[in-house]
Amino acid sequence: FKIKMDDFELFEELGKGNYGTVQKVLHRPTGVTMALKEIRLELDDSKLKTIITELDILHRATSNRIIEFYGAFFIESCVYYCMEFMDAGSLDFFAGCDVPEDVLARITRSMVEGLRFLKDELKIMHRDVKPTNALVNMKGEVKLCDFGVSGQLDRSLAKTNIGCQSYMAFRELEADKRCSFLPQQPERIKGESQGVVTSYSAASDVWSLGLTIIEVAIGHYPFPPETYSNVFAQLTAIVHGDPPTLPERYSPEAQDFVAQCLRKDARLRPSYQQLLEHPWLKGDVQRDVDMVGWVERGIAYRKENPKISVPALA
Ligand code: ADP
Repeated sequence: FKIKMDDFELFEELGKGNYGTVQKVLHRPTGVTMALKEIRLELDDSKLKTIITELDILHRATSNRIIEFYGAFFIESCVYYCMEFMDAGSLDFFAGCDVPEDVLARITRSMVEGLRFLKDELKIMHRDVKPTNALVNMKGEVKLCDFGVSGQLDRSLAKTNIGCQSYMAFRELEADKRCSFLPQQPERIKGESQGVVTSYSAASDVWSLGLTIIEVAIGHYPFPPETYSNVFAQLTAIVHGDPPTLPERYSPEAQDFVAQCLRKDARLRPSYQQLLEHPWLKGDVQRDVDMVGWVERGIAYRKENPKISVPALA
């Protein structure tokens, strides 16, 4: 069936991204609660139609490691994207709460399986792996969202960015500690600085996964902008510095897993299959992990210790 705006009863705003807002909605014909993302784009109808068509491949395959896609449509110059509602928000909310090793392994395995699914079934790379792009629900499931499924949408969003890089740099650094319009992987930063367009590969997603695991464990982006005088220095540290490591309270297996993801030479990073065969994730398959309890404790912890969120600049 086709989803349309009239079908929705609108509830509260769930969050603001760089390109638009996400709202909780009820889809009246099915009684399903959904998340509706509005992406504002100044595009002509033919490009908007291309985006909707490209998003449609998401109907083809489903995985419990990926946010379910219900449909998309456009009104004037806004694309509306309807997806599964995740009632515990995004993983960054839980970053820095107590994250026991078994929980960290379960989160990681969910993400690796999600990334493998995208690559094998949909033939796409994620391109933006980070804690805000992994969503959590009260059942304790972790699922990936915001992957680059539509080439036209990615190109349009990239263009939207060009005009306001310094603003973005500032806002991103404040809000997110990373500049999403700049590459974050050593091989891509290097390529760009040499004027070479490095093609994005799954290995770049693996690097970002390694950083994400550390960020969830320590509560902040592992290249904290406040320790560098500017974005350049931050990128130089990524290219020339030692890769960050997981805190020592985690096991040698966990340390090794992250170290493999964060090999500076992209060619030496493991494939998703190899990551799933790593002893750290193998161990997780058999384990009973209390993810529901962890989510509940995380929410209670955040009530007492709210994340310091910097208001978006006007
Ligand atoms: P960004 O562009 O920063 O990745 P998004 O626009 O995708 O952010 O989302 C903004 C916020 O909205 C997220 O951080 C999350 O808290 C919330 N959100 C996004 N999608 C969903 C969803 N499917 N279910 C619940 N909350 C969501």
